[in-house]
Amino acid sequence: MTAQSTILKAKSIRKNYGQLEVLKGVDLEVNKGEIVALTGPSGAGKSTLLHLLGALDKPDQGSIELIGKDLAAMNESQLASFRNRHIGFVFQFHHLLPEFTALENILIPAMMYGTPMAESEKHALQLLEVLNVAHRKSHKPSELSGGEQQRVAVARALINRPELILADEPSGNLDSANAEELHKTFFRLREELGQTFVIVTHNQSLSAMADRTIRMKDGLVV
Ligand code: ADP
Repeated sequence: MTAQSTILKAKSIRKNYGQLEVLKGVDLEVNKGEIVALTGPSGAGKSTLLHLLGALDKPDQGSIELIGKDLAAMNESQLASFRNRHIGFVFQFHHLLPEFTALENILIPAMMYGTPMAESEKHALQLLEVLNVAHRKSHKPSELSGGEQQRVAVARALINRPELILADEPSGNLDSANAEELHKTFFRLREELGQTFVIVTHNQSLSAMADRTIRMKDGLVV
């Protein structure tokens, strides 16, 4: 793939919840290695769009292609394994499993994918280094700071080497210093791994740093 290759292509996406038209025909293309910020007022449809792009839900109309694969052509079990392998999710709340250590949490998606444990563990330790949390690998989430928890969640999102990371207000629950460190980490991951991101955010410094900001209002890109 060249630097400019499109990895995500969404066309004419519509989504209703009952009578409510949440997405009214959204088009979006993202190139490999891009960091795209998705902004706009609350209720604009950003999270709904992110869920559709991440194959967590289906559009009523329109098509979504990720790495050249049409999501509509897959059944539920194919979608589940496609998500696990090709998409990493980072949410506002880390959703780490409390009874497992940082390292174990990162390894869970790799176990689900069936990667040999020795290989996964080596990769997980590398990710912990890249994310500056290697010294916390044996700690459980409750023993980590908010910033550390979120960096572990990013490592978990990266363990299966997904082509795309989708993040929904990833720094929404962090103080400004930790938010800034997380944002810098995203850019470092892009430099070092060519990682692609679509990030829903209200954080103005993050959207200012992004390669592109897509602004939504009332279910449309404006
Ligand atoms: P944003 O992320 O821009 O704040 P959302 O995508 O979360 O916007 O929501 C857009 C609109 O869709 C809101 O009016 C919200 O209440 C509604 N909505 C979102 N998810 C659901 C759902 N599962 N069922 C019903 N309405 C929903």
